[in-house]
Amino acid sequence: MENRTFTMVKPEAVQQGNTGSILKMIEENGFRIVALKKVQLTTARAGLFYEVHKERPFYGELVDYMSSGPIVAVILEKENAVADFRALIGATDPADAEDGTIRKLFAESKSKNAVHGSDSDENAQLESDFHFNIEEQF
Ligand code: UDP
Ligand code: MG
Repeated sequence: MENRTFTMVKPEAVQQGNTGSILKMIEENGFRIVALKKVQLTTARAGLFYEVHKERPFYGELVDYMSSGPIVAVILEKENAVADFRALIGATDPADAEDGTIRKLFAESKSKNAVHGSDSDENAQLESDFHFNIEEQF
């Protein structure tokens, strides 16, 4: 799955009505939408999704935040998808994100940072499978 990545529009961006603007930027940057759904994660599901971070000090806050309202989960396709998407979203902390990146434009803070982006092909696959079955991918 080297040409795919996984993203979520996070709760504050959905709540602020920025889903459409973010998806538009994503499509305009050459990514094709393979799968898409709006869903609210339970704390248990959010905890499982972010299990790799469970030893980090922000884990509890992250799980509470990511289950606080609906998110929009999306699988994307493009050549070099993982790296190109990380470049499009910018640094974790919007204060460090480059101008023109999604986080620079839409993120509120380092924790409420508008979007998720997979960090490897392997995690893109795991995260896509976490949210979508094969009949939901086109
Ligand atoms: N996060 C946070 N505080 C931190 C670092 C991360 O609240 O000091 C949150 C933030 O929402 C981030 C997520 O945890 O997007 C996952 O962290 P990661 O280091 O994987 O950043 P990302 O890959 O999202 O840029
Ligand atoms: Mg990450």
